[in-house]
Amino acid sequence: MPELPEVEIVRRNLERWTVGRAIVAIGAPDLGRVDGDPGALVGRRVRAWRRRGKLLLGELAGADGDDGLLGVVSHLGMTGKWVREPGDRRFVRMTWTLDDGLTVGLVDARRLGRTFVFAGPPDAHPRVASLGPDPLHDGLDGATLRARLGRGRAPLKSRLMEQGRVAGLGNICVVEACFRAGVHPHTPLSDVPADRWDALAAGAVAHIHKTLADEAGDEVAYVNEGGPNPFLAYGREGEPCPHCGDAIVRAVLAGRPSFFCPSCQPL
Ligand SMILES: [Zn+2]
Repeated sequence: MPELPEVEIVRRNLERWTVGRAIVAIGAPDLGRVDGDPGALVGRRVRAWRRRGKLLLGELAGADGDDGLLGVVSHLGMTGKWVREPGDRRFVRMTWTLDDGLTVGLVDARRLGRTFVFAGPPDAHPRVASLGPDPLHDGLDGATLRARLGRGRAPLKSRLMEQGRVAGLGNICVVEACFRAGVHPHTPLSDVPADRWDALAAGAVAHIHKTLADEAGDEVAYVNEGGPNPFLAYGREGEPCPHCGDAIVRAVLAGRPSFFCPSCQPL
Protein backbone atom coordinates (compact mmCIF):
# COMPACT_ATOMS: atom_id res chain seq x y z
CA MET A 1 0.00 0.00 0.00
CA PRO A 2 1.37 3.43 -0.85
CA GLU A 3 2.57 5.40 2.14
CA LEU A 4 4.08 8.87 2.15
CA PRO A 5 7.48 7.88 0.66
CA GLU A 6 5.98 6.01 -2.28
CA VAL A 7 3.57 8.86 -3.02
CA GLU A 8 6.48 11.32 -2.86
CA ILE A 9 8.44 9.20 -5.36
CA VAL A 10 5.45 9.20 -7.71
CA ARG A 11 5.17 12.98 -7.25
CA ARG A 12 8.81 13.53 -8.18
CA ASN A 13 8.36 11.31 -11.24
CA LEU A 14 5.21 13.15 -12.36
CA GLU A 15 6.99 16.46 -11.85
CA ARG A 16 9.90 15.30 -14.00
CA TRP A 17 7.70 13.81 -16.74
CA THR A 18 4.85 16.30 -17.02
CA VAL A 19 5.54 19.80 -15.66
CA GLY A 20 5.56 22.35 -18.46
CA ARG A 21 3.88 19.93 -20.89
CA ALA A 22 0.36 20.28 -22.24
CA ILE A 23 -2.03 17.33 -22.27
CA VAL A 24 -3.12 16.47 -25.81
CA ALA A 25 -5.25 13.39 -25.12
CA ILE A 26 -6.81 11.45 -22.26
CA GLY A 27 -7.11 7.71 -22.75
CA ALA A 28 -9.20 4.98 -21.13
CA PRO A 29 -10.46 6.95 -18.15
CA ASP A 30 -12.11 4.61 -15.64
CA LEU A 31 -15.10 6.86 -15.03
CA GLY A 32 -16.14 4.86 -11.98
CA ARG A 33 -12.96 6.01 -10.26
CA VAL A 34 -12.87 9.64 -11.45
CA ASP A 35 -14.84 12.50 -9.94
CA GLY A 36 -15.27 15.35 -12.40
CA ASP A 37 -14.63 15.46 -16.16
CA PRO A 38 -11.23 14.06 -17.22
CA GLY A 39 -11.89 15.50 -20.70
CA ALA A 40 -11.44 18.96 -19.16
CA LEU A 41 -7.72 18.13 -18.84
CA VAL A 42 -7.15 18.20 -22.60
CA GLY A 43 -5.36 21.37 -23.69
CA ARG A 44 -4.21 22.17 -20.17
CA ARG A 45 -0.57 22.65 -19.27
CA VAL A 46 0.78 20.98 -16.12
CA ARG A 47 2.12 23.68 -13.81
CA ALA A 48 3.08 21.75 -10.66
CA TRP A 49 2.77 18.52 -8.71
CA ARG A 50 2.66 18.81 -4.96
CA ARG A 51 1.79 16.29 -2.26
CA ARG A 52 0.09 16.41 1.10
CA GLY A 53 0.16 13.19 3.12
CA LYS A 54 -0.77 10.42 0.69
CA LEU A 55 -2.52 12.69 -1.81
CA LEU A 56 -0.96 13.89 -5.08
CA LEU A 57 -1.94 17.43 -6.01
CA GLY A 58 -1.72 18.44 -9.66
CA GLU A 59 -2.09 22.06 -10.74
CA LEU A 60 -2.94 22.70 -14.38
CA ALA A 61 -2.94 26.11 -16.03
CA GLY A 62 -6.01 27.38 -17.83
CA ALA A 63 -6.58 26.59 -21.47
CA ASP A 64 -6.30 29.43 -24.04
CA GLY A 65 -8.91 32.05 -23.27
CA ASP A 66 -9.58 30.60 -19.84
CA ASP A 67 -7.34 31.64 -17.00
CA GLY A 68 -8.89 29.45 -14.33
CA LEU A 69 -6.75 26.79 -12.71
CA LEU A 70 -7.74 23.15 -12.84
CA GLY A 71 -6.94 21.00 -9.83
CA VAL A 72 -6.27 17.26 -9.82
CA VAL A 73 -6.16 15.21 -6.63
CA SER A 74 -4.94 11.63 -7.09
CA HIS A 75 -5.37 9.11 -4.30
CA LEU A 76 -3.55 5.86 -5.09
CA GLY A 77 -5.72 3.57 -2.96
CA MET A 78 -4.12 0.19 -2.21
CA THR A 79 -2.11 -0.48 -5.36
CA GLY A 80 -2.18 2.62 -7.57
CA LYS A 81 0.90 4.07 -9.25
CA TRP A 82 1.58 6.50 -12.08
CA VAL A 83 4.04 5.09 -14.61
CA ARG A 84 5.54 6.25 -17.90
CA GLU A 85 4.57 4.53 -21.15
CA PRO A 86 2.10 1.99 -19.71
CA GLY A 87 1.63 0.51 -23.20
CA ASP A 88 -0.55 -2.59 -23.06
CA ARG A 89 -0.13 -3.20 -19.33
CA ARG A 90 -3.11 -4.53 -17.44
CA PHE A 91 -5.17 -2.42 -15.04
CA VAL A 92 -4.47 0.96 -16.67
CA ARG A 93 -7.20 3.29 -15.35
CA MET A 94 -6.30 6.47 -17.25
CA THR A 95 -3.58 7.78 -19.53
CA TRP A 96 -2.38 11.30 -20.30
CA THR A 97 -0.59 11.86 -23.60
CA LEU A 98 1.62 14.95 -23.52
CA ASP A 99 2.69 17.36 -26.25
CA ASP A 100 6.22 15.89 -26.29
CA GLY A 101 4.82 12.46 -27.16
CA LEU A 102 5.22 10.89 -23.72
CA THR A 103 2.29 9.02 -22.20
CA VAL A 104 1.88 8.61 -18.46
CA GLY A 105 -0.70 6.27 -17.00
CA LEU A 106 -2.36 5.36 -13.75
CA VAL A 107 -2.06 1.60 -13.10
CA ASP A 108 -4.26 0.28 -10.28
CA ALA A 109 -4.85 -3.48 -10.00
CA ARG A 110 -7.17 -3.31 -7.00
CA ARG A 111 -9.07 -0.30 -8.38
CA LEU A 112 -9.34 1.44 -5.01
CA GLY A 113 -7.64 4.66 -6.09
CA ARG A 114 -9.63 7.76 -6.95
CA THR A 115 -8.92 10.84 -9.05
CA PHE A 116 -10.67 14.16 -8.59
CA VAL A 117 -10.71 16.81 -11.35
CA PHE A 118 -12.16 20.21 -10.48
CA ALA A 119 -11.88 23.97 -11.03
CA GLY A 120 -9.56 25.74 -8.62
CA PRO A 121 -6.31 25.00 -6.80
CA PRO A 122 -5.90 21.39 -5.62
CA ASP A 123 -5.30 22.46 -2.02
CA ALA A 124 -8.88 23.71 -1.85
CA HIS A 125 -10.30 20.17 -2.11
CA PRO A 126 -11.97 19.17 1.19
CA ARG A 127 -9.92 15.96 1.36
CA VAL A 128 -6.74 18.03 1.31
CA ALA A 129 -7.94 20.79 3.62
CA SER A 130 -8.78 18.28 6.38
CA LEU A 131 -5.24 16.82 6.56
CA GLY A 132 -2.78 17.50 9.38
CA PRO A 133 0.79 18.73 8.83
CA ASP A 134 2.97 16.74 6.44
CA PRO A 135 6.18 15.41 8.07
CA LEU A 136 8.32 15.92 4.97
CA HIS A 137 6.87 19.22 3.77
CA ASP A 138 6.23 20.90 7.13
CA GLY A 139 8.77 19.04 9.31
CA LEU A 140 7.83 17.21 12.49
CA ASP A 141 9.18 17.53 16.04
CA GLY A 142 8.28 15.88 19.30
CA ALA A 143 6.32 18.80 20.75
CA THR A 144 4.19 19.14 17.62
CA LEU A 145 3.59 15.40 17.47
CA ARG A 146 2.55 15.22 21.10
CA ALA A 147 0.18 18.21 20.74
CA ARG A 148 -1.39 16.85 17.54
CA LEU A 149 -2.02 13.37 18.99
CA GLY A 150 -3.62 14.49 22.26
CA ARG A 151 -3.95 12.34 25.35
CA GLY A 152 -5.99 9.44 26.67
CA ARG A 153 -5.97 5.65 26.48
CA ALA A 154 -6.10 5.32 22.67
CA PRO A 155 -3.12 3.34 21.33
CA LEU A 156 -0.27 5.48 20.01
CA LYS A 157 -0.27 3.65 16.68
CA SER A 158 -3.95 4.30 15.97
CA ARG A 159 -3.62 8.05 16.56
CA LEU A 160 -0.43 8.28 14.52
CA MET A 161 -2.33 6.88 11.54
CA GLU A 162 -5.22 9.40 11.76
CA GLN A 163 -4.54 11.61 8.73
CA GLY A 164 -6.16 14.69 10.27
CA ARG A 165 -3.57 14.69 13.07
CA VAL A 166 -0.42 14.10 11.02
CA ALA A 167 -0.74 13.48 7.28
CA GLY A 168 0.88 10.57 5.49
CA LEU A 169 1.87 8.20 8.30
CA GLY A 170 0.87 4.66 7.36
CA ASN A 171 1.13 1.30 9.09
CA ILE A 172 4.70 0.59 8.01
CA CYS A 173 5.99 4.07 8.89
CA VAL A 174 4.40 3.92 12.33
CA VAL A 175 5.82 0.44 13.05
CA GLU A 176 9.28 1.62 12.01
CA ALA A 177 9.08 4.93 13.90
CA CYS A 178 8.07 3.13 17.11
CA PHE A 179 10.90 0.63 16.68
CA ARG A 180 13.44 3.39 16.13
CA ALA A 181 12.13 5.25 19.21
CA GLY A 182 11.96 2.18 21.46
CA VAL A 183 8.24 2.63 22.14
CA HIS A 184 5.67 -0.16 21.90
CA PRO A 185 3.21 0.83 19.16
CA HIS A 186 0.20 -0.14 21.28
CA THR A 187 1.21 2.09 24.23
CA PRO A 188 -1.74 4.20 25.45
CA LEU A 189 -1.04 7.81 24.50
CA SER A 190 -0.88 9.08 28.06
CA ASP A 191 1.71 6.42 28.92
CA VAL A 192 4.21 7.42 26.21
CA PRO A 193 7.27 8.65 28.16
CA ALA A 194 7.72 12.41 27.79
CA ASP A 195 11.31 11.95 26.63
CA ARG A 196 10.28 9.66 23.71
CA TRP A 197 8.28 12.14 21.60
CA ASP A 198 11.32 13.67 19.91
CA ALA A 199 12.56 10.16 19.08
CA LEU A 200 9.16 9.18 17.63
CA ALA A 201 9.05 12.27 15.40
CA ALA A 202 12.68 11.79 14.35
CA GLY A 203 12.05 8.07 13.76
CA ALA A 204 9.15 8.77 11.39
CA VAL A 205 11.16 11.34 9.43
CA ALA A 206 14.23 9.07 9.31
CA HIS A 207 12.12 6.18 8.00
CA ILE A 208 10.64 8.43 5.29
CA HIS A 209 14.07 9.64 4.15
CA LYS A 210 15.51 6.11 4.14
CA THR A 211 12.59 4.76 2.10
CA LEU A 212 12.86 7.64 -0.37
CA ALA A 213 16.53 6.84 -0.87
CA ASP A 214 15.92 3.07 -1.14
CA GLU A 215 12.95 3.13 -3.50
CA ALA A 216 13.50 6.12 -5.80
CA GLY A 217 13.03 5.12 -9.43
CA ASP A 218 10.63 5.25 -12.33
CA GLU A 219 8.21 2.83 -10.69
CA VAL A 220 7.47 2.32 -7.00
CA ALA A 221 7.24 -1.25 -5.70
CA TYR A 222 4.93 -2.10 -2.83
CA VAL A 223 5.84 -4.63 -0.13
CA ASN A 224 3.08 -7.01 -1.20
CA GLU A 225 4.60 -7.18 -4.69
CA GLY A 226 7.58 -9.13 -3.36
CA GLY A 227 11.24 -8.20 -3.28
CA PRO A 228 13.62 -7.87 -0.32
CA ASN A 229 12.36 -6.44 2.96
CA PRO A 230 14.08 -3.05 3.52
CA PHE A 231 12.54 -2.44 6.98
CA LEU A 232 14.04 -2.71 10.48
CA ALA A 233 11.07 -4.41 12.18
CA TYR A 234 8.14 -4.49 9.76
CA GLY A 235 7.57 -7.96 8.33
CA ARG A 236 10.35 -9.49 10.47
CA GLU A 237 8.38 -11.70 12.88
CA GLY A 238 10.73 -14.23 14.53
CA GLU A 239 13.88 -12.57 13.21
CA PRO A 240 16.44 -11.19 15.68
CA CYS A 241 16.09 -7.55 16.77
CA PRO A 242 19.06 -5.65 15.27
CA HIS A 243 19.69 -4.03 18.68
CA CYS A 244 19.36 -6.86 21.24
CA GLY A 245 18.89 -10.11 19.29
CA ASP A 246 15.50 -11.01 20.80
CA ALA A 247 12.87 -12.23 18.36
CA ILE A 248 10.62 -9.61 16.74
CA VAL A 249 6.95 -10.20 17.60
CA ARG A 250 3.87 -9.65 15.43
CA ALA A 251 0.53 -8.53 16.88
CA VAL A 252 -2.60 -7.19 15.22
CA LEU A 253 -4.26 -3.91 16.18
CA ALA A 254 -7.44 -2.75 14.41
CA GLY A 255 -6.85 -5.30 11.66
CA ARG A 256 -3.34 -4.09 10.82
CA PRO A 257 -0.13 -5.92 11.80
CA SER A 258 2.33 -4.42 14.26
CA PHE A 259 5.91 -5.65 14.63
CA PHE A 260 8.04 -4.84 17.66
CA CYS A 261 10.87 -6.07 19.90
CA PRO A 262 9.42 -6.99 23.31
CA SER A 263 12.72 -6.12 25.02
CA CYS A 264 13.48 -2.79 23.32
CA GLN A 265 9.82 -1.74 23.20
CA PRO A 266 8.19 -2.98 26.45
CA LEU A 267 4.49 -2.25 26.89
ZN1 LIG B 1 15.47 -5.48 20.81
